[in-house]
Amino acid sequence: EPTLDVLIVGGGPIGLACGIEAQKAGLSYLVVEKGCLVNSLFNYPLNMTFFSTADRLEIGGHPFPSIHAKPNRAEALEYYRRVADAKALSINLFEEVESVSESEQFYTITTSKATYRARHIVLATGFYDIPNMLGVPGEELPKVKHYYYDPHFYYKQKVVVIGANNSAADVALETWRKGADVTMVVREPQLGNIKYWTKPDLENRISEGSIKAYFSAHLSEIRELEVDIQSPAGKVTIANDFVMAMTGYKPNFNLLQKVGVTLSADNRMHPTFNPDTMETNKTGVYLAGVVCGGMDTHSWFIENSREHAVKIMHHISTNV
Ligand code: FAD
Repeated sequence: EPTLDVLIVGGGPIGLACGIEAQKAGLSYLVVEKGCLVNSLFNYPLNMTFFSTADRLEIGGHPFPSIHAKPNRAEALEYYRRVADAKALSINLFEEVESVSESEQFYTITTSKATYRARHIVLATGFYDIPNMLGVPGEELPKVKHYYYDPHFYYKQKVVVIGANNSAADVALETWRKGADVTMVVREPQLGNIKYWTKPDLENRISEGSIKAYFSAHLSEIRELEVDIQSPAGKVTIANDFVMAMTGYKPNFNLLQKVGVTLSADNRMHPTFNPDTMETNKTGVYLAGVVCGGMDTHSWFIENSREHAVKIMHHISTNV
């Protein structure tokens, strides 16, 4: 096996952007993705619409034509697949990077299928694989979901939605519209960060009582047929079929640490990197995309992290 100039971990939009820039720079590269192409997007809710307009989701300068200002999941899957194909990107799918070791000249990357050698590594692993857990008894029950796909599934079901941001708002509204009985449990005293065109819809459903909502409240226990809600008015027990824990996700810090990338000591866990080059404290190891934000997963998105790909490949190609 020849030693690659760069191995890119993660075939999300930003991993693909890195592949395109590596190709442009004439570097030998491979993208390794543990799931399908743009796996995170594939696992988004079926009916989700991006908050970004199509032009801001573009990579490698390929236009993203969409009839609507904001494309949906299906269009984005189509777009990224066509770009990967048009560029003939070198990408291995359903292959997970498990560990990395180093010698003087190169890194050795062990995956679920093979071993590679590369002089540089880009970690573009996103944040959608590991949900933030509630930490309450009963969370292990199969009726507790951290990912949501299709509202049809919840017809005539008693659904508790935890969270107050975009995902929670979408789940509450969509499932209610398909005939679910929806109760939101919100830790804060009010709704959080919700798309401006969705928020009034949810506020109106809550004020008319169609969707019930407990604020400054949390679940204290989940059982097969009911849940306990701890609210300012005391403990309330309600009948329940499904709990949708829309409490966000976090990057795979374990993988970063295994590779030797240091994290900030506070609870934000920001990985160490040079913003001009995206190189971490480990020489030859770079970060790209949402993974850069640590626990602040909302600080990076596609439009502001596409440029990581350009910076990284510029830095690598001037050092090869
Ligand atoms: P990801 O797309 O998460 O890609 C990381 C990839 O790495 C994944 O495919 C994963 O399977 C793979 N991976 C992880 N670990 C390994 C491993 N060990 N080995 C191999 N592969 C691995 N952003 C926007 O810019 N606009 C939006 O409108 C928008 N809407 C969103 C809506 C929802 C519901 C969610 C959850 C997020 C949204 N985001 C949006 C954020 C969006 O997910 C990111 O901007 C985008 O996916 C970031 O791309 P990325 O390549 O950094 O990470």
